[in-house]
Amino acid sequence: MHYFKLFNSCRVVKGAENSLIYDLERMDNSNSIPSSVYEILTEHIDKPVEEIKTAYNNEYDIVIDEYFEFLIKNEYIFYCDKEELELFPTVDYEWKSPKNITNSIIDYDGTITISDYKEFIKELSVLGCVAIQIRSFVSLTLVELKEFMFLFNETSIINIELILKFNEDLIDSEIIDLQKQYPRIRKMNIYSSPEDRDEYFINYLKEDINPENDCGKVDSKFFSIGFDTFAEAQCHNTCLNQKVSVDKNGLIKGCPSMSQSCGDIKQNTINEVLEQKILQKPWTINKDEVEVCKDCEYRYCCTDCRVFTDDKNNPYSRPSKCNYNPYQGLWKGEERYVDVVEYLVNEK
Ligand code: SF4
Ligand code: SF4
Repeated sequence: MHYFKLFNSCRVVKGAENSLIYDLERMDNSNSIPSSVYEILTEHIDKPVEEIKTAYNNEYDIVIDEYFEFLIKNEYIFYCDKEELELFPTVDYEWKSPKNITNSIIDYDGTITISDYKEFIKELSVLGCVAIQIRSFVSLTLVELKEFMFLFNETSIINIELILKFNEDLIDSEIIDLQKQYPRIRKMNIYSSPEDRDEYFINYLKEDINPENDCGKVDSKFFSIGFDTFAEAQCHNTCLNQKVSVDKNGLIKGCPSMSQSCGDIKQNTINEVLEQKILQKPWTINKDEVEVCKDCEYRYCCTDCRVFTDDKNNPYSRPSKCNYNPYQGLWKGEERYVDVVEYLVNEK
């Protein structure tokens, strides 16, 4: 008899309308599945295929064969003998981190000087931070960029993403040389550019962005399907967990778009801020608790914005920049799509 096992790197997540197979090793191999396949993969796990067909009175044998063909072809499952089933136990993904802080956003518009960020960056490094996003509201010169990058020498930060305002005096070859000198720079988005184009790691955008207000967009292109995000998303917030940031005025916040600040980089250390325990409050808000998202199959790969939400007074309110309706399984622009807020009002 054919028994089947789901590969440990594959997980099925149920949404209100659709379900999703997450392939945590191969993001592009993740696929939407109908709820009948979800049912087979959860309620009939570890049963032989023939027994599953019998459970449905052999009425859907052809469809079940097609499902298994799809699951095998995409390497979500494998067949084994009954005796082998226990050799492949399902591994639980529990998220743990030895670090206090892992990521940060630094905003800059010239209100405070670049060197004012020096101690903040040093402390981020001591706390174990690895990823930084620097967002500039003003055009930076090559000299200013180098001054910023110099602050990261001898730090734990290995991944820097820059979001910069276009500067016509800054040419591609200079940026590429800068990246060679500072390989921590992994990605650069340059907005207000004369044209949309991609050049090596540089993404030029015509769009005129305000980094503070334009954050929090929900789009499938921002989804992150992988072991780390999946495990972290079970019990933690996928955007704010272990994040400490500084806004353009030097105020320390969870993220720069928040209205509440917990300190000032010129007067307070990050450790002092962490001791207040205010900044950490949203760290454990996860999508199984967030309205609407808890019914969405994308909840373990989607960033959870806690600033731009439907209801400012409700910490579990839905991210307001989401254009997906999990009750219909449709994105805005697709036929029959109804905005989720309107949809839920009509349902009542
Ligand atoms: S909480 Fe929202 S606004 Fe803040 S960094 Fe995350 S996505 Fe952006
Ligand atoms: S409903 Fe929630 S989890 Fe689903 S796509 Fe929108 S923001 Fe993400």
